[in-house]
Amino acid sequence: MTAPRIVVLAGGVGGAKFVRGVRALCRERWPDGPAGTAASITVVVNTGDDLWLAGLRVTPDLDSVMYALAGVNDDVRGWGRAGETERVSAELTAYGVGWPWFTLGDLDLGTHIARSAMLRDGLPLSAVTERLTARWPLGVRLLPMTDAEVETHVVVDEDGEERELHFEEWWVRTRAALTAKRFVQHGVAQATPAPGVVEATGAADVILLAPSNPVVSIGTILGIPGIREALRSARAPVVGVSPVIGGAVVRGMADACLTAIGVATDAAAIALHYGARGSGGLLDGWLVDEVDTDATGALNGAGVRSLVTPLWMTDDGASAIIVAGALGIATAIAREKGPETVP
Ligand code: GDP
Ligand code: CA
Repeated sequence: MTAPRIVVLAGGVGGAKFVRGVRALCRERWPDGPAGTAASITVVVNTGDDLWLAGLRVTPDLDSVMYALAGVNDDVRGWGRAGETERVSAELTAYGVGWPWFTLGDLDLGTHIARSAMLRDGLPLSAVTERLTARWPLGVRLLPMTDAEVETHVVVDEDGEERELHFEEWWVRTRAALTAKRFVQHGVAQATPAPGVVEATGAADVILLAPSNPVVSIGTILGIPGIREALRSARAPVVGVSPVIGGAVVRGMADACLTAIGVATDAAAIALHYGARGSGGLLDGWLVDEVDTDATGALNGAGVRSLVTPLWMTDDGASAIIVAGALGIATAIAREKGPETVP
């Protein structure tokens, strides 16, 4: 395989771990190149969790991926910057500004201030992201799914009445304890893919769905008019990785999101929710963990090629092995389609 053009769809923390694996594998296999690899890696990141808070635009998933790739993330806590302090947040709380349960660290606030300043200068989020990421040699191009402000809200039942919360309030303050009735993507109908998204999927040799939340990370990206169509019409195989191992999400509360849209927390059910490309869906291939070997029957029956491999992203090496499996399926699929499509 010559150095491939890879596009990844990703959410925050799960997406970040996976993208670090993509970069590690590319650096190992195709080491020559300006960014440590000759492969090109474009990551389309969910921005449905973004919000205005204390006058600042906060983009949780873009920042999780950026910090993880830059190596400045807090590995222990799982989010935010390493070596963080929270002096500014304490001041904001004293003034009654912002959400006291949504602590923004001081270093992190530096990012939000810089981003908000650029947005107020009139730059679209994609250009702002390019400028922010230029600070670190990421070796990966980060694109927001859209430049428009699209916000995921959650409709919950409280004392018999429907109430709508911003996704981050539901996730962080209530820990998804209030049962989600449905998700609403405000602003999605008018949104268009950010510059570069459709171009990158069209030029890609392989498109990967990270093991991110299928509903509020990958699902939100696919909800942007034009992105699902771009994947469906892409020449490249589309291969996804299950975020569910043995009927449970690896981390977080994605099962609460799956339940709300009527999808079982099950490796095969998520693949069937994305659908087989041959029958109007997205997937050519799907990776499941060794404990989910049973899932392969349903996948094969639906026309999705499967691979069984350990899916715990315990470190970059483990993530890179998962990525190698996904590229392996993509190559096999491309070979079947014809020699001119082999990446
Ligand atoms: P968020 O935006 O920070 O919630 O992160 P993502 O949407 O990118 O990813 C969240 C998902 O990552 C969760 O549903 C987890 O099940 C999944 N995840 C986290 N760690 C692992 C792992 O080691 N292996 C797999 N297969 N999935 C993981
Ligand atoms: Ca997220």
